[in-house]
Amino acid sequence: MSDESGELPLTSRREATSDTETLSALIASHPDLSVEQAAMLELPHVRGAFSLVFMDDDALYGARDPQGIRPLVLGRLERGWVIASETAALDIVGASFVREVEPGELIVIDENGLRSHRFAEPDPKGCLFEYVYLARPDTSIAGRAVQSVRVEIGRRLAREHAVDADLVIPVPESGRYAAIGYAQQSGIPFAEGLVKNAYVGRTFIQPSQSIRQLGIRLKLNPLRDVIDGQRLVVVDDSIVRGNTQRALIRMLREAGAREVHVRISSPPVKWPCFYGIDFASRAELIANGLTVDEICTSLGADSLAYVDLDELVEATNLPKDRLCRACFDGIYPVALPEPELLGKHVLEGIERRAQVGTEDVEGVATLLGGGAADALERP
Ligand code: SF4
Repeated sequence: MSDESGELPLTSRREATSDTETLSALIASHPDLSVEQAAMLELPHVRGAFSLVFMDDDALYGARDPQGIRPLVLGRLERGWVIASETAALDIVGASFVREVEPGELIVIDENGLRSHRFAEPDPKGCLFEYVYLARPDTSIAGRAVQSVRVEIGRRLAREHAVDADLVIPVPESGRYAAIGYAQQSGIPFAEGLVKNAYVGRTFIQPSQSIRQLGIRLKLNPLRDVIDGQRLVVVDDSIVRGNTQRALIRMLREAGAREVHVRISSPPVKWPCFYGIDFASRAELIANGLTVDEICTSLGADSLAYVDLDELVEATNLPKDRLCRACFDGIYPVALPEPELLGKHVLEGIERRAQVGTEDVEGVATLLGGGAADALERP
């Protein structure tokens, strides 16, 4: 990892601003060791969410943080191995699923085959939001098909929050399977009432407010023939800032909807994510400080309801203590740095609720993910 002059070309660990740069610098800081040895030396000291794939001239490496917050899977081709972020990626290249890379595991694949090392004791805390939104529906996590978890969440949502309506429509694509579950459970017909523009990205990870707002208008278009005169149940995966839903409800009413009842397949998002997802700072999260009724009024919906956290957890078939739910309940499974380093307006209250210590120890690299880096500059 050094350049031709023998100098390390990478930023030092203290100056690096991206996870990739930080980790590369850590491994490159041992030019006398092999990449495998350097990784085994450094990875035990890295905190935060990481699912890594890297390579040198001789080997392919995969590593996952001790909490296994993000998925990482191992697959097999007839003449080789594949490491991927989701099982869906294995399907695409025709690889068969072998197993997940375990939390706290480093795997090395070279001409001698596959070796596995444990660099830390596993303490699984998989991201709950993967099941709601992040993962592809055709992926499996911990042996459970994401699509069927989403249908089950929708069923539970319908049991908890029934409403008299004519149609259940999804906010495509991520609300689709929960909407199917809601329709199955409630007996209200399922219909497609919104068309998604396939050429725009996911709006909540766009970097600025103006681009996000433009994205919302570009993203969805209502089908008037379907929704005119109807009482709608609109199923979406989450509400972060509320911009998407507010614009959407206005569009649906303009297109003739008589009533718009919003059902959300996750609990209110109240806390930032420091494990790789660019959720807003607390100040920007609509559920932070407003009641559900107040959010409903702010969005202009006839009614609003979220799935209960315990119902969501049960839908995954995993024990609650094996899941990260921090953006919903503020309990962060991996130590955060001192609140001052994160910006007190971003984190006010978190130091009270975090279950683990927050000391930033010398020699420990903390990966905050894109969300946290951005949060530092927000009010
Ligand atoms: S804070 Fe939320 S989005 Fe981030 S890892 Fe935890 S559950 Fe997932």
